[in-house]
Amino acid sequence: MTGNITGISGPTVRVALKGLRLYERVYVGNAMLTGEVVKLEENRAVVQVYEDTHGLAPDEPVQATGTPLAVSLGPGLLSGIFDGLQRPLERLRDDSGPFIRSGKEIYALDRFRQWRFHPLKNKGDHISPGEILGYVEEGHFRHNITCGSDINGSLSWVADGEITIEGPAGALADGKEIPVYHEWPVRVPRPYRRKIAPSQPLVTGQRTIDFLFPFSKGGTAILPGGFGTGKTILEQSIAKFADVDIVVYAGCGERGNEMAEMIEEFQMLRDPWTRSRLMERTVLVINTSNMPVAAREASIYTAVTMAEYYRDMGYHVLLLADSISRWAEALREISSSLEEMPGEEGYPTYLASRLSGFIERAGVVETFSGKTGSLSMVLSVSPPGGDFTEPVTQSCLRTTGTFLMLDTSLAHRRHFPAINWFQSYSLYAGELLPHYKENISPEWEDVQRGCGEILRKEETLREVVEIIGIEGIQDQDRLLLHAAEMIRSTFLCQNAYTDDAFSPLEKTLSAVKKILDFHKEAEKKLTQGVALREII
Ligand code: ADP
Ligand code: MG
Repeated sequence: MTGNITGISGPTVRVALKGLRLYERVYVGNAMLTGEVVKLEENRAVVQVYEDTHGLAPDEPVQATGTPLAVSLGPGLLSGIFDGLQRPLERLRDDSGPFIRSGKEIYALDRFRQWRFHPLKNKGDHISPGEILGYVEEGHFRHNITCGSDINGSLSWVADGEITIEGPAGALADGKEIPVYHEWPVRVPRPYRRKIAPSQPLVTGQRTIDFLFPFSKGGTAILPGGFGTGKTILEQSIAKFADVDIVVYAGCGERGNEMAEMIEEFQMLRDPWTRSRLMERTVLVINTSNMPVAAREASIYTAVTMAEYYRDMGYHVLLLADSISRWAEALREISSSLEEMPGEEGYPTYLASRLSGFIERAGVVETFSGKTGSLSMVLSVSPPGGDFTEPVTQSCLRTTGTFLMLDTSLAHRRHFPAINWFQSYSLYAGELLPHYKENISPEWEDVQRGCGEILRKEETLREVVEIIGIEGIQDQDRLLLHAAEMIRSTFLCQNAYTDDAFSPLEKTLSAVKKILDFHKEAEKKLTQGVALREII
């Protein structure tokens, strides 16, 4: 089906074309730019175009594809660096030089690469939807080739040995082939058998998070913070050190040079848990501030769909997005060019439901093949002016379990990560406690309580000191201030540029315990009459 352009406004284009469906993918203009139908009227549609619309003109042709915007899912995604439409950035550059030519169709997966296929089923076996036919080795991961919902019958042939993603990996008696890779529409969550409540910790290697605001596999966290509060550094630290199998990192609307540095750094690093190359477990989806705004809107869906794909193989997957506010801004820009009625602060009225629809794709699931996989999310939020009452922060708050508030005044004092320990919280703390007590130490809870108490008392004492001066308070209280200072500067602070960037749980516990033990010991000495100066 072809039609033509009737109007252009920024990233959106009005087209005259009958029979389109909502969210159908279309090719726009002579340059064949990729777009997606976002609004339908009689005989007409509005398309958001994922590429630069400069140079498009009315009357240029528009072509329907009959399929929604989808990503390719198969072996070869890991260590990939993609744009918001899952085009591999490296191959895109090799083909077209440093400037991405728009309208270029490039396959996400390498179609010629050979993979060794290990069958798990034999000729004559019955196979049904969700069952695993076999696997290939993708780095050190077992990459399962699973049957889609349309596969049900007895196998007449199963591949063995080298295959490419073009496949097939097997065939049914009726001739139907089982593909190695498939396409999945990005806006449709991938199905699973059932959801399970999160109960396993997701260790980040960041002491403040692991000890005070623990995060769980299948959980969701937001990191709201003003400019320069360390959102990007914290997201990247978590991407490096988190104890998950696979990390999908979406660089969404932030500076390009930051992403370039990250790629360079990640290519040299190793995963602290498996010691294999960090990139082997990483997928990067990059849509920086200089790239088209509509593709930014799509990029988080591209990222989450790839994350779900590995979750469905029974892996623990972590999706990081920096920042979800830039995604919301893209949504706002598109909405305004559609002339929709604006809601709070110009965001569309469906901002909250879109966000929660996205965030709810996280969780622990039982897959159709009976495995347990998880998808966790850590999203940074950049509230304008550091105002946390704005719509994006508020919408995220309603649906996420961990809130790590990054504090501008802590960042000014170079206290990093600048996580405010009074305002932040984690709803997973209670469920995870038994795990920490059993697997790390029975003292975990007591030490945690002791640490919290010192920090709380410090807060009250500081107010007193402000009024009457440090000389006015007792030695016991001065000692407490000293202990709190130690907790803040040596325990809560963690420099991302040193070896201290990653702290295993045992080390985290012993570091804070040392401070608490010192405090207890010193209190005893004080009562025995030893001078405070001597103790310190
Ligand atoms: P944001 O993304 O919130 O704007 P960044 O993550 O870019 O902020 O951090 C701003 C600066 O703060 C960094 O360039 C770095 O100098 C410093 N910083 C942030 N986190 C840390 C950390 N954990 N250790 C050391 N320095 C940090
Ligand atoms: Mg940043």
